Amino acid sequence: MEVFLEEKAFTNIIMSAAEVFKHECYGCLLGYKLDSSIIVETAIPFQTAERSFSAAELKRKQRAVIEKVLKTFPKLKAVGEYHSHPQRGDIKGSVTLSDSDIENIKMEDLEIVIAINDKQRSRQWKYNEDMTLSGSFSDYYFRMAAYYYNGYTNHEPLRTMLWCPSATGLRYKKGK
Ligand SMILES: [Zn+2]
Repeated sequence: MEVFLEEKAFTNIIMSAAEVFKHECYGCLLGYKLDSSIIVETAIPFQTAERSFSAAELKRKQRAVIEKVLKTFPKLKAVGEYHSHPQRGDIKGSVTLSDSDIENIKMEDLEIVIAINDKQRSRQWKYNEDMTLSGSFSDYYFRMAAYYYNGYTNHEPLRTMLWCPSATGLRYKKGK
């Protein structure tokens, strides 16, 4: 399974992680599945106004509402979720799944984790050998990874190739 992130989805995930930094952001991924790939067209951040609920509970409720509304849209489906791992003090955010992440990811879902850290220096967007995608914008350094169960054969979600031509193509624009 490969994941293709369209420009709108990429932008929304970046913005949503930066907006609430140094808190975590959560949201829903909308797109469609093909035989061996998932196309993510856009990403919608969950609004986290109700602090009385746990994050997992809140995500379930918000996801349910989004899916209900989406039924009237013929083309897009909720294909998964995303959330950020922000830097906390000196502890850098990483794209590794936590135990509770693994517990909360649904079998049929794609999960994109975006690590967001203070930027040390500007870096162009590129694909890495560990199947992550990384680069910087403004004061932040980002790294993204996609996870998927790959059918029902794996016991935990595996990292899967995340392609985003509109991110890596940024280097060709003038003036960085
Ligand atoms: Zn997490």
